Amino acid sequence: MTDQVLQKRVRLFIFEHFLEHAAPPVAEQVMNEFSLSRSAATDILRDLEAARHIALVKGTARILMAFPFSAIATPFRVTAHIRSYFANCAWDAIAFHAMLGGIDVRVDSFCHHCAQPIRVELRDGDTTHVDPPESLVYLALRPTEWWGDIITTCSNTMVFFASPEHRDASDLCTLEDQAASLTPDQIHTLSGPIYAGKFTLGYARPTKEELFAHFAAMGLTGQYWTL
Ligand SMILES: [Zn+2]
Repeated sequence: MTDQVLQKRVRLFIFEHFLEHAAPPVAEQVMNEFSLSRSAATDILRDLEAARHIALVKGTARILMAFPFSAIATPFRVTAHIRSYFANCAWDAIAFHAMLGGIDVRVDSFCHHCAQPIRVELRDGDTTHVDPPESLVYLALRPTEWWGDIITTCSNTMVFFASPEHRDASDLCTLEDQAASLTPDQIHTLSGPIYAGKFTLGYARPTKEELFAHFAAMGLTGQYWTL
């Protein structure tokens, strides 16, 4: 097995484990599953982190994130099939619907300003329920900044607000051209090329150029999306 094939198989193993158990595998399970030494398993996990498939707890070989899955409790709970998961951020929560091929998904979250509950339900590629109806997803960093520190970005800057008024009242609210406010439906469309196919061996993240082309095709063409 080449290193590239092994890396793809370990990536898929992590995602399938998360889907089944709502928790990541530990490094020892990767070692056993693929007959690897600790250093070889750790190297692959680091390579998967560098390729932006996962994020590790800093200084460890423990998987914190396999986008959109979170290993720890977050304000973004997702129910799909009969299981419940934690997502890393508001975007990741909605992206479960694209990742799972359009099966019914329910997101239970909170307004980042006032903590009132927010629920979003998706079916067959559309939202079927958004409560409160004005709920929006706020991206408080520009796309070029997302990967500077992805753990901070996911944990603090991609959130739900119950309304534009609550966004504007929040400490997170920043200048209009430095941030984006999207509907849950827009976030679902945005997720397509990034999250669909995560359960296939050959999954590859879209390139930066492909991603910006996707933004443009959605009509997301302001300064925020083109930087
Ligand atoms: Zn609120």
